[in-house]
Amino acid sequence: MNGEIYNTVNELIKNGKLPHAILIDGGSASKRNELALYIASAFVCDRGIPCGICSDCQKAKNGSHPDIVVSDPELQNEKIFKIAAVRDIRKDAYILPNEAQHKVYILKNSDKMNIQAQNALLKIIEEPPPYARFILVCESRASLLETIMSRVTPFNLGADDYEINDEVAQKADELANRLAVALAGVTELDFMRLTAVFEKDKELLSPVLTSMQLIFRDAVAISSSSDLILSKHADTARLLASKFALRTLIELVKSTEHFFDCINKNANKNLLITRLCSVLRNTAYGA
Ligand SMILES: [Zn+2]
Repeated sequence: MNGEIYNTVNELIKNGKLPHAILIDGGSASKRNELALYIASAFVCDRGIPCGICSDCQKAKNGSHPDIVVSDPELQNEKIFKIAAVRDIRKDAYILPNEAQHKVYILKNSDKMNIQAQNALLKIIEEPPPYARFILVCESRASLLETIMSRVTPFNLGADDYEINDEVAQKADELANRLAVALAGVTELDFMRLTAVFEKDKELLSPVLTSMQLIFRDAVAISSSSDLILSKHADTARLLASKFALRTLIELVKSTEHFFDCINKNANKNLLITRLCSVLRNTAYGA
C-alpha cells in the first residue's frame, strides 16, 4: 500500500508534476512524517529526485534545512493550530528561499486548525509565491474544509498498521479488561475515567478494541454454553455473560467491529474515543 504511494510520488517527481500543496493523512505518525520528509527533500534536492546524498537532502534529513519549515502546535504544547501560526507562515512564505529552489512548509497536525486558521491557510495555498510548497500532515482529513481539500493533492497512507510490542499489547489487554468490567458497572464514570488513557496514547485504541472484542466474544461463548474461551479474562467474560443477554453481547461484538471500520476509514480518533463510552453503554443498556 505505502509502496504504491511512493511509486506515485516518484512518478510525479520524475515528471516534474509534484503539486504545490499536498495532504498526507492516515497511517501512523511516523509513516506520515517519513513521507512528508521524502516529498520535502524532493522539493529542495539539487537533483530534484530526492537523491539522499546532496547537501540539501542531508540537511533535510537532519532537520537543518533553512528552506524546510516545520510548524507543529504540539512542539509549542498547543492543543490547536492557531491562526497566528498560519499568519507567520504566510509572512515567511514571501521571503525568498535561502539555498534551494523551493521553500517548503510542513504543517503537522493541520487537522487541529479551526475554521479561521484554515481560511487563512486557504489564502496562501490559493495564491502562493511561485517557489512555496505546502505539505499538510494530519491523522485524518475529516475536519478539513472542502475548500482546503479542493486545493490539495491528498495521499492517504491507509489504516494505521501500528506495530505493537509485547509491553503495549499487555497494557492494552489489561486496559481492555478493566473497561469490560467497568461496562458491567452501575455508572459510566469508571469507564470514562479509564478512557482518559487514550488522550495521551491514541495508538492504544486499536489493540484495546481487539482485546475487548475478544472478551465480548468469550461472553457470547459462555452465554451459548461453549467452553471455548480465547481471552485471558474468563472471569470478566463470565461477569458480562451473567449481566447481559446473549443478544446484547452479540451487539457488543458488533459495536467493536464498527469502531474498527471507522479506524480503517481514518475517522478522527479523538471523536472515536469520545464516542466509545456512549456507544458501548447504549449497546449494553439501550439508548
Ligand atoms: Zn538530493
